[in-house]
Amino acid sequence: MRLSHALIPTLKQTPAEAQIASHRLMLRAGLVRQTAAGIYAWLPAGWRVLQNISRIVREEQDRAGAQEMLMPTLQTADLWRESGRYDAYGPEMLRIRDRHERDLLYGPTNEEMITDLARSAIQSYRELPQILYHIQWKFRDEVRPRFGVMRGREFLMKDAYSFDVDYEGALVSYRRMMLAYLRTFQRLGLRAIPMLADTGPIGGDLSHEFIVLAPTGESQVFYDSDFETFDFEKSEFRYDDPSDLERLHALINGYYAATSEKHDEARWEQVPAARRREGRGIEVGQIFYFGRKYSDPMKFGVAGPNGTMITPEMGSYGIGVSRLVGAIIEASHDEAGIIWPDSVAPFRAAILNLRVGEATCDHLAETLYAKFAGAALLDDRDERAGAKFADADLMGHPWQIIVGPKSAAAGRVELKRRGTGERFDLSLDDALARLL
Ligand code: ATP
Ligand code: MG
Repeated sequence: MRLSHALIPTLKQTPAEAQIASHRLMLRAGLVRQTAAGIYAWLPAGWRVLQNISRIVREEQDRAGAQEMLMPTLQTADLWRESGRYDAYGPEMLRIRDRHERDLLYGPTNEEMITDLARSAIQSYRELPQILYHIQWKFRDEVRPRFGVMRGREFLMKDAYSFDVDYEGALVSYRRMMLAYLRTFQRLGLRAIPMLADTGPIGGDLSHEFIVLAPTGESQVFYDSDFETFDFEKSEFRYDDPSDLERLHALINGYYAATSEKHDEARWEQVPAARRREGRGIEVGQIFYFGRKYSDPMKFGVAGPNGTMITPEMGSYGIGVSRLVGAIIEASHDEAGIIWPDSVAPFRAAILNLRVGEATCDHLAETLYAKFAGAALLDDRDERAGAKFADADLMGHPWQIIVGPKSAAAGRVELKRRGTGERFDLSLDDALARLL
């Protein structure tokens, strides 16, 4: 993308309405624009980040054996009347009426719809287990939308749903998602700690929230920092081995981690003081086992062995894909701007042509730009060098490739690593070899 002709409207001034760093930086870096309270348009650079996050989420869901599908945003009220949640959900639900006076709603979540689809398509216990997911926009009419995309009204979520014949099977599905989540967040450059969460009227201990530590987070959290040293991406836990997954669950239960309802002062005292981390956190995902909460009232049964009927056991598993953009920035920024982890950055590098119109600089910058085949942003604006440096730092590209007249004459460029500030003076070929 050429910055001279891109809709990446960076701002020098800090927007007055933004209270936290990620919100300020998302607006200043030209990633999003608010179009109504809690509703955002994703501009080209922001959309690339959102797609990168979605891709990683998708790859890890697929690896865990979940099947991707797509359900609509609009749902009929009748489905929610069946489960009893239509009245219970309250004013957070956006209710709509069509021209035939039929009640619809913009989905805040999809348990009812997936249960309806499953009951019409799955007949026998032999077809189970299954895990289905989609990445789709949700609407919740939050009383106080705030912090930009972190608490929006319209937001992008990955939600998955599991169906099993019994509790043991449901536990395996739950643990698969647990592993997939740990791997997903690690690939996104985050440390998201699984914490026991409230299960509401269902009871049991089977809900975890995944929380990223950040001073601006909405939840108060306590955890054992030893958990942070575990490498889930490289770990050998296997999705198809229930005993491996059981070990994973035990490992997680072995570390202390809890939000303030769930906090147990006595257990906390037993964690060595140097390992106690206490602060605020952002919920980026939640996994939930809820048994027959929907399959029962919605009369979803499958034929079991010997002609018996079985009511499937279910779980649901959410990741806040658009909230993650804010959470990643909260966890990774400095005074000058965003510091994107390589895996989600909108562009792998920015090529800063410091003397646009000068033949050698133009030639070198264009040659580099062509090699990146769309993965780099070319700053070809007729601007001062200082403005280009400031914008590149603000936008947070992992690498900056600086093409200045002196070094260009010698066929060399300067590389700057955004995260560390390290600089390297390299030939064009060496620079390319390093980055591509
Ligand atoms: P919260 O407690 O933050 O309101 P929740 O527990 O109601 O969230 P879930 O139903 O667990 O949310 O949804 C799954 C994920 O969707 C959450 O972990 C969060 O990352 C994301 N999410 C929920 N509400 C919002 C929102 N208003 N804006 C952006 N992301 C959201
Ligand atoms: Mg939640």
